[in-house]
Amino acid sequence: MNVAARTTALDTTGLDLETCSKGLFIGGEWLEGHGAYRIPVVDPSTEAILTHVANADLDDAAAAVDAAAKAAPGWAATAPRKRSEILRRCFELMTERSEALALLISLENGKALRDARGEVAYAAEFFRWNAEEAVRIAGDFGRAPAGANHIVVEYQPIGICVLITPWNFPAAMATRKIAPALAAGCTVVLKPATETPLTAYALAALYKEAGVPDGVVNVITTSTPGPVTSAMLADPRVRKLSFTGSTGVGRTLLAEAAKTVLSCSMELGGNAPLIVFDDADLETAIEGAMVAKMRNAGEACTAANRIYVQSGIYDSFVAALTKRMEALAIGAGSDPATECGPMITAKAVIKIDELVRDAVDRGAKALCGGAKPAGTGFYYPPTVLIDVPADAEMTHEEIFGPVAPITKFHTEDEVIAKANNTEYGLAAYVFTKDIGRGLKVSRRIEAGMVALNRGLVSDPAAPFGGMKQSGLGREGGQHGVLEFTEPQYIAVTL
Ligand code: NAP
Repeated sequence: MNVAARTTALDTTGLDLETCSKGLFIGGEWLEGHGAYRIPVVDPSTEAILTHVANADLDDAAAAVDAAAKAAPGWAATAPRKRSEILRRCFELMTERSEALALLISLENGKALRDARGEVAYAAEFFRWNAEEAVRIAGDFGRAPAGANHIVVEYQPIGICVLITPWNFPAAMATRKIAPALAAGCTVVLKPATETPLTAYALAALYKEAGVPDGVVNVITTSTPGPVTSAMLADPRVRKLSFTGSTGVGRTLLAEAAKTVLSCSMELGGNAPLIVFDDADLETAIEGAMVAKMRNAGEACTAANRIYVQSGIYDSFVAALTKRMEALAIGAGSDPATECGPMITAKAVIKIDELVRDAVDRGAKALCGGAKPAGTGFYYPPTVLIDVPADAEMTHEEIFGPVAPITKFHTEDEVIAKANNTEYGLAAYVFTKDIGRGLKVSRRIEAGMVALNRGLVSDPAAPFGGMKQSGLGREGGQHGVLEFTEPQYIAVTL
């Protein structure tokens, strides 16, 4: 399908590229950015420019914070039930328009349409879940132990929030922050990734239609994220930074946020181990590994980055996984037949290729894939590597692509030591039929989330987040909304 045909396909479902690139979304209006040029948005499947979006400078960032500040008192005072109903409407509209949104995500991100559909359902669910949470933000009331007074604790909205999101889940990473922030009574400025701004703008229009008041959600794109973000974080009206992205940028932003002692939630990088014990059900382990590795073509913070397989099941696991990986259909994200779409940029492909070459140079063997193809589009083939040595760079760094590095292990203690030998601690996967052993091993793994006998861990109803340098705080579950509140204690003499 060419770009024009794709645009038409979006049109027929009420969404078009023009709507998604009208301008910055500030105070409920579409405004021209004052940055020097408009930012191109590229289709990773074809390398064609889809459209251009507005470019915010420091004045535009200040205008976005002004709009959020103006809307803040009214939104904080809005009854929780009313906030809940608006959030519910966001869920309903996203669900009604899921096909168009999925196509848009596929176009700007490159991910396979089936992954994009999954993302829209996941992203919408944050609105449904937080609509339910909005009316259940309870406080505490009790008599002080000394008996002289009472203790009242209320969860107040924390204030204006700056939200920064990556390109790999353009809808879900935004709604995972916006929905709980709004449920808590906060107003926000979202800065989506430069590669995938269209979904963020399409959703901004949808929030307005759902009844989110002007200024409660503001969205700006910029070619200068460092200075624009620093300016917003330095504004004393901003009280929260919620960031999802790489650990490197997270560290920079934590240092920046320290200047105004901002509350920070950080969802950072991962290096997930996937462990298959001899007693695992082979089919379950293969199915789980395919999901954990290949959802989003490996471009996920939770992606299995190191696969450890016990010696007794090693040969059959390697053979079965290689068969599944080499059979995957590679193609344009928006083609319904595609199972593995392109990577986000040419730079991402080069990085994956370098990691593979480094592993092979150190003794790993490629059983399928393993080389960057020629031609248009940012493609990298599904790749299985065996005998990946412990000093290979991919053992320590996120691959962020369709490469499955497999290493044999012998004992439980050995694999746990290997799994924990990383600065990251986001997700881990364990496969065994012995649930007792599975729970025992899960508790010894330093990861915020462990999937036992399954390849998918994300769930809007569960706390998502990492240990160690994978982050601070949790998104989703009952924890997600509390990240956007400040507990206030009032000592009362009755
Ligand atoms: P990234 O380079 O860290 O960028 C993330 C966001 O930060 C983008 O919006 C980016 O804007 C912005 N940014 C970059 N430099 C900045 C600066 N100096 N000041 C303020 N903002 C800045 O990460 P990415 O490549 O987009 O995403 C991949 C990473 O995200 C991986 O490490 C992955 O593991 C992680 N991730 C984590 C989770 C989780 O929940 N833990 C979920 C998804 C992804 P520009 O686009 O303009 O550069």
